[in-house]
Amino acid sequence: MLNALDTIPLIDLMAVSHMNYDQTSGLSILDQRGRPLRDLRISLTDRCNFRCVYCMPREVFSRDHAYLPSGALLSFEEIERLARLFVSQGVEKIRLTGGEPLIRKNIESLIERLASIRTLSGNPLDLTLTTNGSLLARKAKGLRDAGLSRVTVSLDALDDLLFQRMNDVGYPLASVLDGIEQAQAVGLTPLKINMVVKRGTNEQEVLPMARYFRSSGIILRFIEYMDVGTSNGWNMGEVMPSEQIISQINHEFPLRPLEPTVEGETAQRWAYADGSGEVGFIASVTGAFCGSCTRARLSADGKLYLCLFASAGHDLRALIHGGMSDQVISGEIASIWRGRSNRYSELRRSEVRPHTGRASGRIEMSYVGG
Ligand code: SAM
Ligand code: SF4
Ligand code: SF4
Repeated sequence: MLNALDTIPLIDLMAVSHMNYDQTSGLSILDQRGRPLRDLRISLTDRCNFRCVYCMPREVFSRDHAYLPSGALLSFEEIERLARLFVSQGVEKIRLTGGEPLIRKNIESLIERLASIRTLSGNPLDLTLTTNGSLLARKAKGLRDAGLSRVTVSLDALDDLLFQRMNDVGYPLASVLDGIEQAQAVGLTPLKINMVVKRGTNEQEVLPMARYFRSSGIILRFIEYMDVGTSNGWNMGEVMPSEQIISQINHEFPLRPLEPTVEGETAQRWAYADGSGEVGFIASVTGAFCGSCTRARLSADGKLYLCLFASAGHDLRALIHGGMSDQVISGEIASIWRGRSNRYSELRRSEVRPHTGRASGRIEMSYVGG
């Protein structure tokens, strides 16, 4: 896969002087559309122990797939260094992802490093992680002790057979539910559950999931199935619009809309009218939120992507390996962000070409993280 990716040539490094380095004055760097850099998603690996049908279909992600060699991954020291530089440019929230982040050995020591970082306003980072939950029961306490604030667990069904079919490795539901319970017990909260709804596959699980997580203190979020990458064979007919899910749930459990709490929030938040908690809807296809997208993504091999649907990244690892100073790398991050104009989901709506999910060169979700 990597061979198919182009890397955007970096600007002449010698030309980057501290003249265009943004001193951390507390002012945000803004992209071409006025969006500040606030969130960083760091992928720790492009590998996973699941083969979710919508993300890493096993026909494509076989044993022979060109995964990143371990020598190409950023070390924990390099991740911490880059994280600090991103924070110096305004990042306040870091989400670890993948692939499956919990399969990265000794992840706890990385979390310890990241938990010591303070934002420009002197606060701890909002440090979180998205996981398929398979290793969570075993790791929850260690993650919490290392300084992780909270977790998001992906779970697409409560029907064990369907769940096993969707993860396509026969992984049992009970182990993930156990992981969720352990995470909640050790205080990795507010815990969120992400459910990708794929029409024709798991839409019948919407109400059982809502019933199960209501009143649990856990926030369930429904995500529209997206045309990320080139391998999942996406088509619009398999997208279940958030609006339909809201109306389904509202029919059984009346809902009322909530105000967004943070800038750049992806989920529309709703509360159960009887006070039994909240649910979220991420309308990534039918309700593009590019206008408030404050997210940058760092791949496991150190490339900076400005959009989930980008086809090329900026090689920050090459800068580190080229011996560049913090000042130079930080200046480069700022200049890349300032040049950003991505708004794929907004454009998707107006595109004439029918979508088949086969756009060429696009990065995969498992490479750059959700
Ligand atoms: N392996 C971890 C997990 O599954 O939580 C982290 C990485 S996964 C790529 C991050 C999130 O992306 C998951 O919540 C997953 O359900 C979501 N995802 C993957 N492919 C998707 C797609 N085609 N459309 C919508 N969400 C997707
Ligand atoms: Fe793995 Fe997460 Fe993708 Fe599923 S969604 S295949 S668990 S990376
Ligand atoms: Fe952000 Fe790109 Fe998604 Fe738009 S399509 S919300 S710019 S990641």
